[in-house]
Amino acid sequence: AEANVGVVGLAAMGGSLARNLAHHGNKVAVFNRTYARTEKLMNEHGGEGEFYPAKTLEEFVDSLVKPRTAIIMVKAGEPTDAMINALADLMEPGDIIVDAGNAYFPDTIRREKEISARGLHFVGCGVSGGEEGALLGPSMMPGGSEESWKTLKPIFESIAAKAEGEPCVTHIGLNGAGHFVKMVHNGIEYSDMQLIAESYDLMRRGLGMTPAEIGDVFEEWNKTELDSYLIEITAEVLHQVDKKTGKPLVDLIVDHAGMKGTGTWTVQTALSLAVPVTGIAEAVFARGLSSEADLREEAQKQGFAGPDGKLNLNDDEKKAFIEDIRQALYASKIVAYAQGFNEITTAAKEYGWDIDLAAVARIWRGGCIIRAKFLNRISEAFESGEANVSLLFAPYFKNAIENAEKSWRNVVAQAAINGLPTPAFASSLSYFDGLRSKRLPAALIQGQRDYFGAHTYQRVDQPGAFHTLWAEPGREEIEA
Ligand code: NDP
Repeated sequence: AEANVGVVGLAAMGGSLARNLAHHGNKVAVFNRTYARTEKLMNEHGGEGEFYPAKTLEEFVDSLVKPRTAIIMVKAGEPTDAMINALADLMEPGDIIVDAGNAYFPDTIRREKEISARGLHFVGCGVSGGEEGALLGPSMMPGGSEESWKTLKPIFESIAAKAEGEPCVTHIGLNGAGHFVKMVHNGIEYSDMQLIAESYDLMRRGLGMTPAEIGDVFEEWNKTELDSYLIEITAEVLHQVDKKTGKPLVDLIVDHAGMKGTGTWTVQTALSLAVPVTGIAEAVFARGLSSEADLREEAQKQGFAGPDGKLNLNDDEKKAFIEDIRQALYASKIVAYAQGFNEITTAAKEYGWDIDLAAVARIWRGGCIIRAKFLNRISEAFESGEANVSLLFAPYFKNAIENAEKSWRNVVAQAAINGLPTPAFASSLSYFDGLRSKRLPAALIQGQRDYFGAHTYQRVDQPGAFHTLWAEPGREEIEA
């Protein structure tokens, strides 16, 4: 046995991760169900480091130094379960099985329970950054036991992305904590993308700009607080010209947004935890609506009368409105992050995880899809305790929101008046307004609930639970 780590599953992600490990001095055992894939990896990249290719899973396990560390990167769901069990049958107490695929965190909690009952360590590890990240440095979010982290730390730190010299990996918390945080990362990614898409739409349809002109705007925005990977690639996508037709490529792409489920999980989980993640939810629903092909076609046939989306602004007004959109994007983004972090905080209480939010923000600064400059500010806000209740209350972000507020309102109002959909902008603003309202119409809802269901209500002027005999003459109130 010579290898200090092994990778099972050598498709796009596993192959890249194995190479990354080898590039950083690890001795890497590799196994894939279909041996041809292993052979291909060895033929093309075997010279890049020390690999130990195995034809059978037994051979793979035998080639690992104890405590053995095996990283699974196979298809999510049943194949992952099958592979975990097959490895567990061959491994010994103290060995570590890592699932680096995109698992749903309740599955990770279940698997950890089963595997740890057999004396082995099971670590669900979120990995972000796609294939390129896996090869050149991903952001990594491992859960699992403290003890397993001692073995994994040097290995993961060797391959993770670096942000200002620090590896983008930290032990997130026990059992499913890593996959949970990765899930919320993806939810935030959905909202970031939706907010960018709404900004684009406002400029495209609202201001009549070309994709290339809008690409230039995003390039400029990338020099501001919005500096991030997603803004950067947006500029590139918008500048892309189709070779065949000479048209902007974005105009030739079918406008149905796909999804693989992590955004949906984030929202489903938030619903069951009763945490409003409106920014993320609207992003998921917007993708859903975009893909409702029949419904949208029928709506076209209906030919609803209404504004055509054009704002008809002169050059100076246009310039000012573009800045308003930038501010609206920034404010809405802060709201979505605040909501995402609230979801993590609530889940941590529910599942008994001790999650360092400042560290989470730090490891998202590099390698992952939502990497952004302002994550430095977020980690500072959590570190100082200023964001303990909500990111929105940390002075830096409070100030940013206050600066953006007028622009944000103008964008949402203009969009509504002119018939342009801005679900994420609008819902983020509503969340903010809901939060800052001293009194909410929830009082009326309590009245309605008590009316039809005798659910009782509390009073602002005295303690206790009350029920009104709404249908009785005189509408008497009784103490419940
Ligand atoms: P795929 O999800 O396409 O899975 C292909 C791999 O799974 C192959 O190695 C395949 O082996 C193996 N496999 C499938 N079924 C079985 C089975 N029943 N038993 C054993 N092995 C099986 O690969 P990716 O590299 O795209 O993704 C791997 C994991 O990483 C997934 O969980 C994915 O969700 C996650 N992930 C992917 C990202 C991405 O950008 N692609 C980003 C982050 C995470 P064989 O060659 O024999 O068919």
